[in-house]
Amino acid sequence: MLKVGLPRALLYYQYYPYWSVFFETLGTKVVPSPVTNEDILMSGVQNAVDDCCLPVKCYFGHVLSLQDQVDVLFVPRVVCDRIGGLQCPKILGLPDMVQGLWEPTLGIQAPTVDVRRGHAGWEQGLRAVGRRLGISGATMHRAQSNAEFAQSFYQRALEGGLVTHEAYQATRRAVGLPAMVCRNKQGRFAAAELKIGVLGHPYLIYDPYLSQDLLARLNSFGVTPITAEMVPGALVSAGNARLVKPLFWSLGQRILGAAAHFLDGHVDGVIHLTSFGCGPDSLVGEMIARWARRGKRVPFMSLSFDEHSGEAGLVTRLEAFVDMLKRRAVR
Ligand code: SF4
Repeated sequence: MLKVGLPRALLYYQYYPYWSVFFETLGTKVVPSPVTNEDILMSGVQNAVDDCCLPVKCYFGHVLSLQDQVDVLFVPRVVCDRIGGLQCPKILGLPDMVQGLWEPTLGIQAPTVDVRRGHAGWEQGLRAVGRRLGISGATMHRAQSNAEFAQSFYQRALEGGLVTHEAYQATRRAVGLPAMVCRNKQGRFAAAELKIGVLGHPYLIYDPYLSQDLLARLNSFGVTPITAEMVPGALVSAGNARLVKPLFWSLGQRILGAAAHFLDGHVDGVIHLTSFGCGPDSLVGEMIARWARRGKRVPFMSLSFDEHSGEAGLVTRLEAFVDMLKRRAVR
């Protein structure tokens, strides 16, 4: 059976249901790379240029971990997956950046997704991949409709408060696929007194190694973390409508829209996770910090992550922030 490798990094955390259901319905074997660990990150750091952001370095490590494990590597070139927003240039350039790292039997499958051209985006891109793999039209049609159903089911599961792994499993059950075996066991968090809005790119927040398990740590401190993916789309759009000029980046739009909702007083505090070396984060972070100083003055903290981030420093800052929120709540 043909093995298709999916690096567990970057847009994997957004589109895994779509990609995996599509390829599984085609009859191929989907092989995600392992959950990020020190070896994966370090091999990415050693093979990427120094100027890359942490998530792209991590992506390189995941690509290398799939070497000799799969026949095809799936690295889509996502330019625009939603009208009105573009992906970051580093995500656009991924297929070119990984070319030199990879020599699988059937090479890299890198469909371009750009809904601005009037095509159906993922549908057109994945059909091209299916054709190159010699799949019939009827099977491809079924794979496409299963994948679309899975992606919208997954989004609803996230908005219902599930965290990625649990949402994936619920999605697989809904499309009749067996449970996914995975060491990343993030599920629904226990409800707690305090609520903290956690903002950042999904590939940083939901990667337990890169984020040093920040969501689970907050929950263990008596906090319910709420991420931007858990905020309903209509509220995110309403938040973005306050901007005089729309933001370019689609991931940044979700973060800013959710930030506006959180800072209206819907949470007790807000934490923004940024990646060292990320251009979009520097602008988005500055805007959130300014908004936080106005209006309801919801406490705000920014945390920057890189390959040298230490656990002790993170835990100290989180504990201090949560203690401050608890004192504020009893006043
Ligand atoms: S948005 Fe930032 S973190 Fe994400 S790939 Fe681009 S530079 Fe890296």
